Amino acid sequence: MSEFRSGPLTIKAIRMVAQAIRDFYGISNDKPFPIAHFIENMPRMFAKTGFEFHVLTDSNPRLDDKHPANTDVANHIMYMKQTTYDNMCDGHGFERFTGSHEVGHYILSCVYGVPLYRTLSDDEDVPSYMNPEWQADTFAAELLMPYDECLYLSVEEIERRYCVSKKAAQTRFNKINGISKIIL
Ligand SMILES: [Zn+2]
Repeated sequence: MSEFRSGPLTIKAIRMVAQAIRDFYGISNDKPFPIAHFIENMPRMFAKTGFEFHVLTDSNPRLDDKHPANTDVANHIMYMKQTTYDNMCDGHGFERFTGSHEVGHYILSCVYGVPLYRTLSDDEDVPSYMNPEWQADTFAAELLMPYDECLYLSVEEIERRYCVSKKAAQTRFNKINGISKIIL
């Protein structure tokens, strides 16, 4: 259950936004997206909004193991744990996805303009296309692993080429190839 729901977004709309970010940043679709570099540049790129990026010590109570990064879209601030930041900068796939997910929250809400609403109750059923967490995960997958290129790649090729975790590469492969469950 999400604390928020957002305006509806289709995968195709999210793909278009992710592609625009790649094009804007001048990264061709056959290359890994330099997410650490992009985040470091966000305060300059989004200076008009006053965007800030803060790396916090691992013991800071604002973040925990389940939420190693967080984006406060109302105040235009992204927070990230030191270890997560270090691993993202070192090219670790899991943390690269975490960073891309946070960028997704910011871009979709503050640049693309998808509104966020508090859910009315814990029981409110939010469909995935209106769930900001699903939208941010979808954005991260589209930004890191461009659809058209991945159509012809194996799981291992996606993992290697785009510097993502094996799990992220497998999920991307399964979705693109219409496999809902991994067949062993
Ligand atoms: Zn999130």
